[in-house]
Amino acid sequence: MSDIIVPKMSAKKTFIKNPEKPVQKYRFLVQVFFALICIWIGIEFYFFIKYLETGGAAGSSYRPPGVEGFLPISALMSVYNFLLTGKIHPAHPAGMFILVAIFAVSFVFGKSFCSWICPIGLLSELVGDFSDKIYKKLFKRRIKLPRIFDYPLRSLKYLLLGFFIYAIFFAMTTTALQFFLNSPYNKIADVKMWYFFADISRFSLIVIASLFVLSIFIRNFWCRYLCPYGALLGLISLLSATKIKRETKCCIDCNLCAKVCPSFIKVDKVVSVRSDECTMCLSCVDICPVANTLNVKTKIVEKKFPKQYIGFGIIGIYILIIGIGIVSGNWNNNISKEEYLILHKNIDSIGHPTSTQDIKKLNRASENGADNGTKQFFKD
Ligand code: SF4
Ligand code: SF4
Repeated sequence: MSDIIVPKMSAKKTFIKNPEKPVQKYRFLVQVFFALICIWIGIEFYFFIKYLETGGAAGSSYRPPGVEGFLPISALMSVYNFLLTGKIHPAHPAGMFILVAIFAVSFVFGKSFCSWICPIGLLSELVGDFSDKIYKKLFKRRIKLPRIFDYPLRSLKYLLLGFFIYAIFFAMTTTALQFFLNSPYNKIADVKMWYFFADISRFSLIVIASLFVLSIFIRNFWCRYLCPYGALLGLISLLSATKIKRETKCCIDCNLCAKVCPSFIKVDKVVSVRSDECTMCLSCVDICPVANTLNVKTKIVEKKFPKQYIGFGIIGIYILIIGIGIVSGNWNNNISKEEYLILHKNIDSIGHPTSTQDIKKLNRASENGADNGTKQFFKD
């Protein structure tokens, strides 16, 4: 009898207390697991950079392929190239497999990458939880931007995504795409990215610090308003087979699910959560006090998916796709240590296309042959 509750909110309904244990602790462990992998990759890559800087005399010649997970634009180009040619481009194949794994996870479990895997998502969440606590103490509620600002700002990440989609899928010819993938800039993009953060400019530092401060005042500022990667996964998640579903018959309208949702989704007002902002964090499912009222369900069989298995599902898909990359011999790239050393020596002269004008130039250059085109990547 102890689990029969008569709620204050809806005196007419009696309900059975939700007996399921929350999964937030496991989600946090999965986030930490992926964050540790990223740190490990960073340490290995640091020694590879030392190897390049010392002309091969120190550090380690091993370059962790996982670093390509931080080159999403190049990976998207590789996916497009694969769709066009049926061939895996050898410059950053691991990046392509990682991106495909993330797409697959998004198809199956929605935008779960953001709340289960992404280290920026973890950082954003920790900052958001911390500031929520302070706001709740000060104002007895969380702070959310008014709709008049929230909606236009949310479109920014789609504008950024639109630019990348246009630049890759529409502005570049197939030849230019392959030309870019073969270019010195693409080959050494991971090393360039390292120096971007290692020798960060004052302007970039101010931008990053501002984003951090804004995230304290406005929850998930980067993820909610600016991240084009999240925008793409949000769109894919709309096609996802898995959704959070609310059983209106047993819902007692306590509003707890909406109050806890980090994406400010009105879970208590919908039957099925169909939002590009839902990150499948399961906070709403965990907090719902009524048994079998808020569930994770799959579209295909309309069956409840046990929430405790979602973490295993995400890791399983990830391991499966990356495993295919490794077993098929497409995990390591084909750039030799000697080529890396030469590219590193010339790194300051290797430029990249930054605008649609540059891409047009690249198209023209690729039509004129590889040698002319290569020069486009080197600054005058
Ligand atoms: S709707 Fe639920 S699962 Fe989706 S973001 Fe909000 S709390 Fe997380
Ligand atoms: S679905 Fe939301 S509003 Fe309904 S009982 Fe659960 S937590 Fe409360």
